[in-house]
Amino acid sequence: MNSMYMSLTSAPSKQASLTCKNISPLDSYFKRCQAPKPQFTRIFFQVSKRRKQIVCQVNMSAQSTAGQVIRCKAAVAWEAGKPLVIEEVEVAPPQAMEVRLKILFTSLCHTDVYFWEAKGQTPLFPRIFGHEAGGIVDSVGEGVTHLKPGDHVLPVFTGECGNCRHCKSKESNMCDLLRINTDRGVMLSDGKTRFSINGKPIYHFVGTSTFSEYTVAHVGSVAKINPAAPLDKVCILSCGISTGLGATLNVAKPTKGSTVAIFGLGAVGLAAAEGARIAGASRIIGVDLNPNRFEEAKKFGCTEFVNPKDHNKPVQEVLAEMTDGGVDRSVECTGNINAMISAFECVHDGWGVAVLVGVPNRDDAFKTRPVNFLNERTLKGTFFGNYKPRSDLPSVVEKYMNKELELEKFITHQVAFRDINKAFDYMLAGEGIRCIIRMDA
Ligand code: NAD
Ligand code: ZN
Repeated sequence: MNSMYMSLTSAPSKQASLTCKNISPLDSYFKRCQAPKPQFTRIFFQVSKRRKQIVCQVNMSAQSTAGQVIRCKAAVAWEAGKPLVIEEVEVAPPQAMEVRLKILFTSLCHTDVYFWEAKGQTPLFPRIFGHEAGGIVDSVGEGVTHLKPGDHVLPVFTGECGNCRHCKSKESNMCDLLRINTDRGVMLSDGKTRFSINGKPIYHFVGTSTFSEYTVAHVGSVAKINPAAPLDKVCILSCGISTGLGATLNVAKPTKGSTVAIFGLGAVGLAAAEGARIAGASRIIGVDLNPNRFEEAKKFGCTEFVNPKDHNKPVQEVLAEMTDGGVDRSVECTGNINAMISAFECVHDGWGVAVLVGVPNRDDAFKTRPVNFLNERTLKGTFFGNYKPRSDLPSVVEKYMNKELELEKFITHQVAFRDINKAFDYMLAGEGIRCIIRMDA
């Protein structure tokens, strides 16, 4: 049914097939989203023997939403740490080099939770969070040439303008124009928001704000993907899974037979473990304070587990004893400053590489003895696993399509959009891995 909605909303004037019983939910769907309803110019029926149902062909000539304000539902964070409120918001049309997206599925990443709690981060409210999502292009602003209404896309919290020295470098994904900026709550082109409620502006989050039925993003923050890819699965590639996978495969680069420690076994850490498994690591040691994660982590290639709480010495010493002096690679996916320091100090001297992925508090400082560097250990960090979002993400989606990468095992919960606060409860309780939020429910 969703794909039918997709084709109806995204590709007006095309012919779509739908079963008769779906006409009335469609009606209420367009009403609820206040998206212009397609005009049904021609309807005819035929009996489909294969699907054992009557199929109704509809010719549509929808009015375009281009240039119009759309009223739709969004989950607004009015205050730090307070449950999100589903509100009716106005979403302005995309301006030059922007696209408006219809979000179909989104999920919750810990980065949303940090900035919603705003404990160690700069508070900015009211705001629409959300950055891990899949959707379709609704309309495009002036100058947008490589995306068109109907394209299936993943928005990404860090963009790729394609023209700057970072985008032109093979090594970097830190685009000068569109790299992650957690403090900016407005669009780059005019410093204004595209969301409002009765004229009151509502701030954006990392250029994506996917906890809304419609959102506006810079074209460089949107990756066009294979339209056959199921958006309810590949939406988790738009942040957490690609980040963890890339942190290991693109940045830590463990060799076959090596030993890798993963700090934090949430979605990002488990994807990092998956990367270590794909790279052929022979020992993958999962480190987490939550023992409930260990059973789950076996499915992602973890071979051993350490809970720092079970030991009365620093976890880096425990790991050094387990591995004859230290692990070859470590990937930190917790956001906790002490875990970051342990992840660095647990790598072997001479060749060990540690990669930081977790988002720290604004004022955290990394403290270690300089001799740890002199002893030839390397410390690195990465956003989005070093993937360039527009150039590289489509091929990560293809890894799922070719069955090289399994995504289903990361998805432990699903909730309707109206129950989005439950996804926050699951994450705060350390329950499950990723929770998919269905925008149409
Ligand atoms: P999550 O909450 O699902 O998982 C974090 C895990 O870390 C939990 O299992 C928790 O028990 C564990 N943990 C916390 N403190 C620990 C400690 N001191 N020692 C060991 N384990 C500890 O979160 P997630 O969505 O998987 O995100 C993980 C981190 O990655 C977050 O900090 C998030 O902000 C960050 N992140 C970074 C990027 C990036 O591009 N760099 C992208 C996405 C997420
Ligand atoms: Zn750039």
